[in-house]
Amino acid sequence: MKALTYHAAKDIRFESIPDARITAPHAAIVRVTACAICGSDLHIYQGHGFSDDVGFCVGHEAVGEIVEIGSSVEGLKIGDQVMISAAVGCGLCAPCRAGDCTRCERDATACYGLSHKLPGCQAEAVMVPHADQNTALIPEGLSHEQALMLTDNLPTAYLGATNASIRPGGTVAVVGLGPIGLMAVEIAFALGAARVYAADLVPERRAMAERLGAIALPPGDERAVLKELTKGRLAESVIEAVGADATLKLAISLAGKQATVSTIGVNQSKQFPFPMALAFNKGLTFRTSLCSVVKHWGELVPMVRSGRLKPQQFISHRMPLADGAEAYALFNDRREGAMKMVLTL
Ligand SMILES: [Zn+2]
Ligand SMILES: [Zn+2]
Repeated sequence: MKALTYHAAKDIRFESIPDARITAPHAAIVRVTACAICGSDLHIYQGHGFSDDVGFCVGHEAVGEIVEIGSSVEGLKIGDQVMISAAVGCGLCAPCRAGDCTRCERDATACYGLSHKLPGCQAEAVMVPHADQNTALIPEGLSHEQALMLTDNLPTAYLGATNASIRPGGTVAVVGLGPIGLMAVEIAFALGAARVYAADLVPERRAMAERLGAIALPPGDERAVLKELTKGRLAESVIEAVGADATLKLAISLAGKQATVSTIGVNQSKQFPFPMALAFNKGLTFRTSLCSVVKHWGELVPMVRSGRLKPQQFISHRMPLADGAEAYALFNDRREGAMKMVLTL
């Protein structure tokens, strides 16, 4: 089958790899109809991924059709249209069965497309372990593109917002306005925030946040402007959606007294210089978490179905999987208004 594979920094190839195959009775094969490139895929693209492997199939966000099921799969049948959770667990322990795979008691939390261990889904097909737990039928009333946003980005944005303890009438700051950051802006309003301030270096991304009702903060002057606009109070809730040391620092600086800072960006820094004195003086709560995607579907599906959240609005490009390398380059360089990149098959 054809797939996108990682070989070296900025070297993603569309090439043939062995067909996805059932490796356990609980697994299923999904023929991918659409997949997406995530901000975390750019870590791999830039050559500082999550393993030393090369030649593995990348990607962890996909929807498609069940074409093969293992003998112990009970809730799925051939032909079912499904969305696949980017995060998977052992499928057997109590948290995994409840859709909370990042709390897996067997330490089996994993994600597609980070190494050869669990091949990615930017491919014609993907093997889904514990398919009963790790997929769901595309909900009635949702488009495949909306479902694709539910495989990782929207649940992650939602986790970032709920971890930030947003209160009705509250003041929120979002740092980093890629697809997840922009979804967090929309969710913050849905959760009742009165004001959402938005920070990013890219003018078009700040403009998109403003179209959602946010107030953009000027790069370099974020804290001073936020301080002025909030009469010194700064933000009660801060969502950091990049994961870089600089944006974490910025997020902490935008937090007011007794605020909560919630970070959802991937940060692999082992020595982030946490500004402890500043955090202590502000009385900050600092939260970070991987996203158990499935856990949030029950709340998010109705919000998307009703139109309260429109995650599909952040899709900027739809390109064939064969043009995946070009899609990665556009997204990485933030060229041509690249925001959410969807690859079709
Ligand atoms: Zn993702
Ligand atoms: Zn488990």
